[in-house]
Amino acid sequence: MTDCLFCKIANRDIPSDIVFEDEQVIAFRDISPAAPVHTLVIPKKHISTINDIGEEDQSLIGHMVLTAKKLAADNKLPGFRVVMNCNKEGGQTVFHIHLHLLGGRQLTSMG
Ligand code: AMP
Ligand code: ZN
Repeated sequence: MTDCLFCKIANRDIPSDIVFEDEQVIAFRDISPAAPVHTLVIPKKHISTINDIGEEDQSLIGHMVLTAKKLAADNKLPGFRVVMNCNKEGGQTVFHIHLHLLGGRQLTSMG
């Protein structure tokens, strides 16, 4: 997708603070962190929302979660939160799916 912010980050057309990359995903620091560790894990493949995930993407989504687990371990987080927002009403602002990894402070129950 040419006009997608996170595709541009994945393609290095826009700079970001990349912390991990492999053939399927890329992870970079959130520009407006909500916690001491706030990393976004995105697939290199453009998928707009959770509703657009297909059966064929199951292992890719699992790989995103395993990447978050690895990054949490790398950051020695004793606990963490993983969040994916879907659609404007769900708080999604960038329409290329991403997993938020949050940690480094005591997280309280979600509102
Ligand atoms: P969401 O609201 O779930 O769509 O999350 C989008 C996230 O992307 C927000 O937490 C933003 O702070 C973050 N964000 C937006 N632009 C950038 C950027 N250029 N680099 C890193 N993170 C970004
Ligand atoms: Zn995209």
